[in-house]
Amino acid sequence: FADRDGVIWLDGELVPWRDARVHVLTHTLHYGMGVFEGVRAYHTESSGTAIFKLKEHTDRLFRSAHIMRMNMPFSKDELNAAQKAVVRENGLKEAYLRPMAFLGSEGMGLRADKLQTHVMVAAWEWPSYMSPEAREQGIKIRTSSYTRHHVNITMCKAKANGNYINSMLALREALDAGCEEALLLDNEGYVAEGSGENFFMVRDGIIYTPELTSCLDGITRATIFQLAAEAGYTIREKRITRDEVYVADEAFFTGTAAEVLPIREHDGRVIGAGKRGPVTTILQQMYFDAVKGVGNKHPEWLAPVSE
Ligand code: PMP
Repeated sequence: FADRDGVIWLDGELVPWRDARVHVLTHTLHYGMGVFEGVRAYHTESSGTAIFKLKEHTDRLFRSAHIMRMNMPFSKDELNAAQKAVVRENGLKEAYLRPMAFLGSEGMGLRADKLQTHVMVAAWEWPSYMSPEAREQGIKIRTSSYTRHHVNITMCKAKANGNYINSMLALREALDAGCEEALLLDNEGYVAEGSGENFFMVRDGIIYTPELTSCLDGITRATIFQLAAEAGYTIREKRITRDEVYVADEAFFTGTAAEVLPIREHDGRVIGAGKRGPVTTILQQMYFDAVKGVGNKHPEWLAPVSE
């Protein structure tokens, strides 16, 4: 991934892709204290390539840094401009963006006190997380043997680098078992989220999702709340057990990378009709329309990279 043409924004400058390097003693590489975002830009009819919910992602990056007590050496405006620049300067029509703030190689050890926060933003083409078939037919998931982080073990509202060890263990286990994603339970045994997605289920026309507690405060999750309200659905946040999922009419994941992804099977049990359900279909369509600016209902969610 490092050996390619293009530019990456690093500490205030656009540098050639191959030169965007750090030292092996980069602190974040050793201890995982860093914060990042996953953002997407879509091609819209009205305003060309636009970053979806750019402000919300940058706000969350700053909240994550605040939780981790990392000083951000750039303003939100500077980072928003950097994100637009990497999409534009790499000539990308649609893109996945990765902003990250990390601690440098100014010191070693947990007590290092001269550390500086560095910031990078890269963007590349990443068409779809799942096959078009998965988007329509849904995916197969299993309950993870790994518990989602306890809220006092790590900070779940921060999108922090180190948190993703847990996600990777869970996802690898699920993939090895022939599934496409894991469903992680919290330390009390209730449904939390996927390795990189928030979870929703539908029963008798009502949409349910876990309270945030140990889940990431997903930006797609918030978008679904808004779109579901517009479509006249009720969403309830509540504790959900795995067997409630087994008997749900529909279930789906949401995330910037995964978008709106139906779940057709969980722990060997078929969910509902075993394919994308009607509520999921409507919300998925509304989501794709929103990110692509179809109907121009939420222009405030789109940040054109040309501006
Ligand atoms: N949970 C976790 C653990 C994630 O990594 C992500 C992806 N950022 C999400 C949920 C979904 O968040 P968002 O909709 O903001 O991408």
